[in-house]
Amino acid sequence: MRIGLIDVDSHNWPNLALMKISAYHKSIGDHVEWWDGFAQYDRAYMSRVFDDTYSVDEPEPCNAAEIVKGGTGYSLQNTLVDEIEHMMPDYGLYHWLPQDTAYGFLTRGCPRDCEFCIVTEKEGRKSKKVADLSEFWAGQKRIKLLDPNLLACPEHIDLLKQLANSGAQVDFTQGLDARLLSAENISLLNSIRIKEIHFAWDHMRETDAVLRGLRLYTENGHKNRHGDYGTVYVLTNFDTSMQDNLYRIYTLRDMGYTPYVMIYDKPHAPRAVRFLQRWCNNRQIFRAQPDFLKYNPKHG
Ligand code: SF4
Repeated sequence: MRIGLIDVDSHNWPNLALMKISAYHKSIGDHVEWWDGFAQYDRAYMSRVFDDTYSVDEPEPCNAAEIVKGGTGYSLQNTLVDEIEHMMPDYGLYHWLPQDTAYGFLTRGCPRDCEFCIVTEKEGRKSKKVADLSEFWAGQKRIKLLDPNLLACPEHIDLLKQLANSGAQVDFTQGLDARLLSAENISLLNSIRIKEIHFAWDHMRETDAVLRGLRLYTENGHKNRHGDYGTVYVLTNFDTSMQDNLYRIYTLRDMGYTPYVMIYDKPHAPRAVRFLQRWCNNRQIFRAQPDFLKYNPKHG
C-alpha cells in the first residue's frame, strides 16, 4: 500500500501518532511518505492534536482511496489500535528535527479531573502505566515525556527508576503533581537528569496539599542551575482573585521557587491580570520590582 501522512497542526513538533503509524506501515512493507497533492494513495492519515483555537483544519485530500482522521483535534474518542500504539515511533519521519530526542507516554489518565482539562475525559480517571521506557526510547540523549500525571500512577516508582537508569536528560513536559511528592519519589527525581522541573498551583482549595509537597521538595530535592527549586505555574483568571494570585506568587518566591503566571482565557482576561503576567514572568522585572503594587507597566 502507498500511505500518505498529513500533520494538520505543524511540522515543528513531532506528531507521535503519525510516527507510530509510519513505523507500523513500514514494518508490514508499505510505502510511507508525507502526503503529496500530485501522488495517488491507498490510504491517507490526517492527524490533528489541537482544535480550532490553535490550528486550522486541512481539507480532505481527493487523491486517496481511504482517509483516516485521528487525534484530539478531531475527537476525544479516537485512539490507535494496540498494535500501532506500542510501536517504536519512526523518529526519522521528522528528519529535519533534532534526532537525539525520544517522545512518549509511560502513563495515561489522571484522577484530578480539573475543569479546564480534557485528560480525564479522554484518558480516564486513573493514571495507568501504558509502556516501559524501552518502548519509545532507543538510547537518545533526551527524553520528552508527555504523561499528564506520572506521579499518580501506582507504578511510578519503577518508571522513575527506568528514567534514572537511562542517564538521558528528561523533560516532564506536562509538569509533576506537587500534591503527590513523597520522600521516596523525590529521592528518585534527584537521580534523574531533569531539564527543568515544574509544578502547578492552580486553585486556592489545594493550598495545603501543594504547600506540603513543595516544602518536602525544598527539604529533599535539588536546586536547579538558576539557584531555585523549580518553576510553579500559577493559574489566574479562572477561579482566583488578585489577592489569591499575589498570595501564591509571593509564597512561592519566599519558598525558593519561580512562580510563572498562566492566564485562563487570555483574550478576555482583565488588564490587571495581563500586567501581573508581564511583571511575574519576566525574571528581570520580577527581581527589580518585587512588589506588584509598585510595578508600573508603562515603565517596563
Ligand atoms: S492534574 Fe493536570 S492532567 Fe490532571 S486533570 Fe488537572 S490539569 Fe489535567
